[in-house]
Amino acid sequence: MGYKLITVNGGHSEKAPGAGANGYKEHEYARMIKDKVVARLKSVGVKTIDTTSNASTPSAVLAEQAKKCNAQPKGDRLDVSIHLNSGGGTGCEVLYYSEKTLAAKVSDAIADEAGWKNRGAKERKELYFLCNTSASAILIEVCFIDSKNDMKILNAKMNDIAIAIVKAITGKSVHVSKPDPKPPKKDEDGLYKVQTGAFKDKSNAEKLTKELKKKGISTFITKE
Ligand SMILES: [Zn+2]
Repeated sequence: MGYKLITVNGGHSEKAPGAGANGYKEHEYARMIKDKVVARLKSVGVKTIDTTSNASTPSAVLAEQAKKCNAQPKGDRLDVSIHLNSGGGTGCEVLYYSEKTLAAKVSDAIADEAGWKNRGAKERKELYFLCNTSASAILIEVCFIDSKNDMKILNAKMNDIAIAIVKAITGKSVHVSKPDPKPPKKDEDGLYKVQTGAFKDKSNAEKLTKELKKKGISTFITKE
């Protein structure tokens, strides 16, 4: 927490694609999620750099990602790479070199939001991205691209999952403004009325009025 700079990339590339299944391609989904995470990091005021590589071989992709990350100042930097898993499982996991607590937190947050299996934090000291970036790094395996159910959830909840990732990493909530579907009805006097009860028996109405007055809420009784 408290990172001054967060780099984010979507793994693989069109010419060096990762996993694929049922028409879904890992590099495409990794980039979609990455775009949402980058946009939301910026919206909470965190300096963010996109370190995605479009190089044409797997090793060139990894080398370019690390080079872009390491071109940035090392202090208080976090490097994030976004991937999708494959191989017949389900759920999310977050791979780390040394950031075990953060990795677990991010995995928890994604699983909470998506409702799929939380595979948790996994130490992977040999992974190129994790051991060749000069700052703290995590690699997020958001879900399984070959799980139809995971992908159905991902397609439906990608925004919320990106928000959950950003909150877990930064501690900051992303404010999503939703349009109010039904603004409160304005009466002719231009007043918004708040109704607390409707009673057939006037004495019950008066009883509630008394209780509200005790709480310091001004009330009046109307009859329709
Ligand atoms: Zn991958």
